[in-house]
Amino acid sequence: MKRALASLVASAMLLFALAGCSNGNNPAENPAASPTSPPASSTQAAEPVTISVGVPTAPPALPVLHMMEAGLLGENVTIDLNVWNSPEELLAMVQGGEHDLYAFPLTVVSTLYNKGLDVRLMNVNTWGVTYFMTTDPAFETWADLAGKTVYIPLQSSPPDALTQYFLNEAGLTVGEDVEIVYASTAEVAALLASGEAEYATLIEPQVTSAMSQNSEVRRALSFEEEWQRVTGTDTMIPNAGFGTTQGFIDENPELTEQFQAAYAESVQWVLDHPAEAAALAEEHLGMKAAVVGAGPAGLTIAVLLARWGYDITIFDARDKIGGVMRYGIPNYRLPDSVLDDFQYRHLELKGIHVRPNTTIGKTITIDDLFRDGYKSVFIGAGLWKANAMHIKGETLGNVAFGIDYLANSKAFRLGDDIAVIGVGNSAMDCARTAIRNGARHVTCYARRDESCISASAYEVSYARLEGVGFRFCKAPVEIRENGLICRDTVKNEEGKFVQVEGSETFYPHTGVIVSVSQGSESNLVKTTTGIETNQKGLLTVSEDGSTTREGVFAGGDAVMGARTVVEAVAIAKQVAESMDKYMKSLPADTTPDPYADIPTFQTPTSDVLGKQEVK
Ligand SMILES: Cc1cc2nc3c(=O)[nH]c(=O)nc-3n(C[C@H](O)[C@H](O)[C@H](O)COP(=O)(O)OP(=O)(O)OC[C@H]3O[C@@H](n4cnc5c(N)ncnc54)[C@H](O)[C@@H]3O)c2cc1C
Repeated sequence: MKRALASLVASAMLLFALAGCSNGNNPAENPAASPTSPPASSTQAAEPVTISVGVPTAPPALPVLHMMEAGLLGENVTIDLNVWNSPEELLAMVQGGEHDLYAFPLTVVSTLYNKGLDVRLMNVNTWGVTYFMTTDPAFETWADLAGKTVYIPLQSSPPDALTQYFLNEAGLTVGEDVEIVYASTAEVAALLASGEAEYATLIEPQVTSAMSQNSEVRRALSFEEEWQRVTGTDTMIPNAGFGTTQGFIDENPELTEQFQAAYAESVQWVLDHPAEAAALAEEHLGMKAAVVGAGPAGLTIAVLLARWGYDITIFDARDKIGGVMRYGIPNYRLPDSVLDDFQYRHLELKGIHVRPNTTIGKTITIDDLFRDGYKSVFIGAGLWKANAMHIKGETLGNVAFGIDYLANSKAFRLGDDIAVIGVGNSAMDCARTAIRNGARHVTCYARRDESCISASAYEVSYARLEGVGFRFCKAPVEIRENGLICRDTVKNEEGKFVQVEGSETFYPHTGVIVSVSQGSESNLVKTTTGIETNQKGLLTVSEDGSTTREGVFAGGDAVMGARTVVEAVAIAKQVAESMDKYMKSLPADTTPDPYADIPTFQTPTSDVLGKQEVK
């Protein structure tokens, strides 16, 4: 990470230096660096105000970080920093009116402007620094790309728009003559450096990084020079700037001016203090945090921390995100498409990594996560251990536990006359799912009477409407291959339901689903030092969501017991703030990378591989 941050600052210096090199022909001079700007700290908003700013984890963010640290907007103005990871995410943010000010790639701001949105560019602070890169020694010009694949970082960004413009100018049609593959900037640089990509558009600092890793990678074309050649002008290419809406400017004219001036002052500070800027970036951007569990609690934490600039990896034991929302709540109540859409819009666009099919507490422990540089860990593992009744027959082949059945109900063969033991919400989901899977008879059994149903009234009425039957005051005592033996219960004088000896009755069924409750898995806790649980196995946390192990936080059902999605999300929001505060309080990591200077193996290019004989 340190290498990446150092290069972020190096790149910032390069970009801002170039910004200062404006030749006067630029469509917009660089007001951010204008010497005529009033001193940033000379004015102050009278009322306390928070401005919400959207930035990428890229050079335009650095001056904003300095503004925050140095309080350049005065003590009444707080900056709420939010990170965007792709132009698509930025577009969604602006269209949703999420923030007040944004660092914009110019293609995005013009797209929004052309769509009729109220956006206004306040300054242009990044120019040039885009190159066409290749490992092909024979490549000379755009026309040579016929029949080739070109890798481009960030769809719809200025590098993308310009690459397509140059290809078009060379008479090549994208999709027909040239294939374009999009990936993140870091991925494109890695593909180029490893020789997997032969042609790529790239921006600094990844240009320098790819060249330093593979001596065959070269800057073939400068976009600046290409632009000047094609347009016949000596104009430079504007890349990015800060923008807002006309509404914000009208409502906050002084603040807008203050922001402009403070940004200009901060740009200069970044140029003058690269080491301090690197430390700031390290403190605010890209610190790694791990989230165990992709249920509503874990997803909320992940999205919030990513928005605040953290590099997030979610680990989940299952193959897809959602937790109970996907593997418990049946599809007819919450379609998977809602979660798939969430995965794209909120995880992929935010650059959140998801590591599926990975149970923390088995091969990987929480201690391993700290070893690998995660500064904080959130446990949102829910309650996934089915509670058994511990009666004879529970292990038979025609029996399923409710939570296992709901996770993949079609995998079970329980026949067409099913007994569901339990009358909670999960039991209703099991019963209604069994009906949808073709069962002709489904009957729910309860130890107590109808007044003790814990499922919500509407769930019960839906179940009844769909043909689910109920038998109350029946205590299961044994399960058999062909049914269930229950003893009757009655309410005694103390109001408790007691079993009536000798009342045993056999109820024929082809299969039985035991849905009485869930508890927590203990592996996670057993394999981690210092995490305490209460008597029910729920994680012990303080008010701020921190567990008894430093740096480990928890929330959701794993802490509160079986609750609801809304409660899991609400608590997770508070815990995210605690984790943010905790990570910001950590000292900067000064551990040197022992492998910083080792050589990189030069993977042969695909051409070379193609010529090699496979023996
Ligand atoms: C059948 C059923 C129906 C429900 N219906 C509703 C409803 O209609 N409305 C409502 O509001 N609430 C409902 N709830 C409750 C609600 O779903 C939960 O309160 C909520 O999902 C809890 O969220 P969570 O993030 O804490 O945990 P979960 O949703 O349980 O997610 C935990 C995640 O952690 C993963 N995990 C567990 N252990 C590990 C590990 N060691 N390593 C890696 N990953 C791990 C799991 O795979 C899971 O993806 C229902 C619950 C059930 C069981």
